[in-house]
Amino acid sequence: MFLREHTQSVTALAQVGKAIAAAYKAMDIQTMADLLELAPRSYEDRSVIVPIGQSQEGQMCNTFIQILAQTTFSSKRILKIIAIDTTSGKKVSLLCFNRDFLSKVLRVGSTYYFYGQVTQNGFETQSSSFDVKPVIEGKTPEGFGHLEPIYPLSGILTQRIIRRDMRNAFSQIGSIDNEVPGYLLYKHRYLDTSHALKALHFPLDQAQANLARRSLAYAELLYMLLVLKRRTARQAPAGRREQSELERRLIKSLPFALTVDQKKVIQEIRADLGTGMNRLLQGDVGSGKTLVAWITALNVIENKGQVALMAPTELLSRQHAQGAAKLMSLLGVKLAYLTGSVSQSQRKSLLAALKDGQIDILIGTHALFSKDVEFKNLSLVIIDEQHRFGVSQRLALQEKGSNADLLMMTATPIPRSLAMTMFADLQISTIHTMPEGRKPIVTYLVSEDHRSKMYDAVGVEFKRGHQAYFVYPRIDEEGQSELRDVASMHEFLQKQYPGVPSALIHSRLPEDQKAQILEDFTAGKLMYLVSTSVVEVGIDVAKATCMIIEHADRFGLAALHQLRGRVGRSALQSWCFLVFPPSPSEDAVKRLRCLRDSNDGFLIAEQDFMIRGPGDIIGSRQSGFERLRYASLVGDLDIIEEAQKDADHIISTDPGLLDAENAILRNVLTLAPPFKAEILGT
Ligand code: ADP
Ligand code: MG
Repeated sequence: MFLREHTQSVTALAQVGKAIAAAYKAMDIQTMADLLELAPRSYEDRSVIVPIGQSQEGQMCNTFIQILAQTTFSSKRILKIIAIDTTSGKKVSLLCFNRDFLSKVLRVGSTYYFYGQVTQNGFETQSSSFDVKPVIEGKTPEGFGHLEPIYPLSGILTQRIIRRDMRNAFSQIGSIDNEVPGYLLYKHRYLDTSHALKALHFPLDQAQANLARRSLAYAELLYMLLVLKRRTARQAPAGRREQSELERRLIKSLPFALTVDQKKVIQEIRADLGTGMNRLLQGDVGSGKTLVAWITALNVIENKGQVALMAPTELLSRQHAQGAAKLMSLLGVKLAYLTGSVSQSQRKSLLAALKDGQIDILIGTHALFSKDVEFKNLSLVIIDEQHRFGVSQRLALQEKGSNADLLMMTATPIPRSLAMTMFADLQISTIHTMPEGRKPIVTYLVSEDHRSKMYDAVGVEFKRGHQAYFVYPRIDEEGQSELRDVASMHEFLQKQYPGVPSALIHSRLPEDQKAQILEDFTAGKLMYLVSTSVVEVGIDVAKATCMIIEHADRFGLAALHQLRGRVGRSALQSWCFLVFPPSPSEDAVKRLRCLRDSNDGFLIAEQDFMIRGPGDIIGSRQSGFERLRYASLVGDLDIIEEAQKDADHIISTDPGLLDAENAILRNVLTLAPPFKAEILGT
């Protein structure tokens, strides 16, 4: 049987009762298979001798000791045993608190395995936390002489319990069938499933433990990629659409030429339209993705399809609606704007028109996806600033649009290892070049003592008619008093810049008020906004040249880069000031320096990924596909590449997995699918 066919409950194990089973359940372990799949966090190395007196700071000693003498301080109930390390010859005093039984176990003159922490106390070398076992010829005692796995724990579970249950589970379920075709194991020198699992839980040494983990990581990546890539391979072949009349007219009406990359990605997307496209458009902030989306939309409209564009906030979707109206007013395209705050009667007539096909493009927030929103012929779904969608969410989204093409836009580039794994079901189009004439934003790290200089610099920009954003981590909340809250900072800035019109904007303001403020800012009626990170995504105001971020140490790299991208959106020189507190953490300093030294979103995204891991991009609640047990998206690029090559080869030469050598793969996918069945589809 394959591993995941072993679905008996862990309660079938002799010593697992209700309480332990409940603790396992809290860790998502219910079956024998679940238990055996549990990956150790790390290992305690008891395979290498570390003599007493030669261990590094904090390292455990692992050696043999001979007992020289025993004494008891009866008053304190402390047993003291004097021993000598037979490897290093160093004397050690074992202090046994409430472990009197050791006086019978540890006999003077005999030799024992010793594993424990040793400290120097004056002239005396002592240990009070240790394991000992007698040396018996030809037999290594349990827990010595090899690596001991360290598992994640929950509730009443201890390492001892899990290790015990692991041993029992292996002997109880008998054999586990191999899940990776032999030719692939041979090619990469990986272990088959059964040996890999055994070596994962009972490795002889670190090298074997590593090989076990890598073997299992390869297997899980291979299956993930096979499932994702088979989905895309089933899609219809690429369509062949020509540039439409509407597209031509829009491009002609622009006051600038498209960049080389914009042209390239428009072609890539157009070639995929009408084929159930599943595409990610990535390009740094300000690289002109929105325009690409509208041009694509025009092709769809000319082919009698409807388009939906969704943005994560009302602010941003409103801006898109206004931008689209400006661009397409002369083209006869019918636009509508739908958010949660549209009135009932408006909503009703809008939905009727939509269903009737009188609306070409519907723009809005996630309200676009409520049940009552029905299209006549939804053909393209565009999602702006959404890289956070996990695989399962993407699949759910596609269900909605039946056969609609999906275009997702993100300014946070997907790191390579993620693009090859979690996003393997997506085609990726990339805009590398920025529109001509943009000047790189100059970024300064500002300490408290340089604050006034910064205010002066921004004041000069106001005199030139340029605008600024002042951004704070969050609005005033209790317990966050150390943060400069927007309200009091706004008062402070009004004194700093008397007579300069400004506004306060944060997420708790009503939508229409926010929209009004943003409109006034865009129109130049306001010179600066004091805000929380609501301005983070998408907002586009050409004359804004200063971005001041307070408590910059509190933001992640990607968020800081996004915020910074709100300036530098025209030919004007722009500045970003990252204000940090007196003693920022080491990590924060790393982030801020990275930002100061680079304007390259791709580089920053890779750095962010290295610092924070993939959770931020694929969402922290991981299930199904997103849950990799053994593979690390940060550290296993080599394994990812192997699995990708192999999966590609298999899909192109044997998509149905009918070859004898791939029979194992087909069997696993039918009998014991590694991911949820509904996602596998047929
Ligand atoms: P993002 O990729 O961040 O979504 P936008 O689509 O908001 O970027 O574009 C930023 C600004 O650049 C917009 O004002 C847009 O009109 C302008 N823009 C887009 N393409 C070009 C181009 N080829 N040349 C000059 N400006 C452009
Ligand atoms: Mg955008």
